[in-house]
Amino acid sequence: MKLHSKTCCKCKKSFQTKHLKTKYCKDCKVIVRKEAFRKSYLKKKDRMSIDNDYRENYLNKQRERSKKRYLKHKDKKKSYNKKWAKENPEKVKELKRNYRLNNLEKERDRLRKYYNTNKKRILEKRKQKKKEKRLSDPLFKLKENLRSLCLKGIKSRGYKKKSKTQDILGADFETVKKHLESLFYDGMSWNNYGEWQIDHIIPIASATDENHLIGIMNYKNIQPLWKKDNISKGDMMPEHWVTSKQSS
Ligand SMILES: [Zn+2]
Repeated sequence: MKLHSKTCCKCKKSFQTKHLKTKYCKDCKVIVRKEAFRKSYLKKKDRMSIDNDYRENYLNKQRERSKKRYLKHKDKKKSYNKKWAKENPEKVKELKRNYRLNNLEKERDRLRKYYNTNKKRILEKRKQKKKEKRLSDPLFKLKENLRSLCLKGIKSRGYKKKSKTQDILGADFETVKKHLESLFYDGMSWNNYGEWQIDHIIPIASATDENHLIGIMNYKNIQPLWKKDNISKGDMMPEHWVTSKQSS
C-alpha cells in the first residue's frame, strides 16, 4: 500500500500514513481523541444536570448497552473466571472468606436454602462419614455407643438425661476406654468390638430410683462381655447369672 507524507495539524511534525484523510500523527491522535471524549462527556454531564428526560434516556441506553455487553461476553468471562479460580485457590479462599464476613445474614440464608434443597444428600453423606469414622476410630465408636447406652438406659426407666454422658459415667471417655481394656477377655480387642458388648454388671433394670440408676450408670459398673454372654445375662443380677452359667 502507498504511504502518504503528511504534516500533523497539532504538533506540525511530518509523518507517514496509509490513509489520505489522517490529520494527526500517532501521538497526537490519542490526545485529540481524549480531548474530544472529555468535551462530549462534559457536555453530556451538563445536559444531564438540567434535563431530566435526557438523563433518563441516556441512563436507559447505558443500561441496555451494558446488558448487551454482559450477555455477549458472559460465557467467555465465566470460563475465564473459572480458569483464574483454579490457578489462584488461595485468593479465592480469601475472597470467599471476606464475602462471608461482610454478608453474614445473606450467607445464613444461603446455607439454609442449600440445606433445605439438598437435605437428603447432606444427611446421607453425614451418615456415611459417621459410618466410616466408626470403623476407623474405636474411641469415636465407643463414645457414640456410650452416649446411646446412657440415653436408652435412662429412658427405659422413665427418666430424662439431664447431664452429659461423661458426667453420668463419672469419668472421661479415655478413662472408660482404658477401664474396658483392663477387663478384656482373651481375644477381645477394639478391632472386634461388636463381637463383645458393654454390659452393666448390676443391671439397669434393677434401679429403684433416679439416684440409684445414676450409680448403676457409673463406668466402674460396666464390663466387656462376649455378645452371647451379654444376651444370656440379660437383666439378671450378676450373682444369679454366675450361678446359671455354672449350672449350664
Ligand atoms: Zn502530532
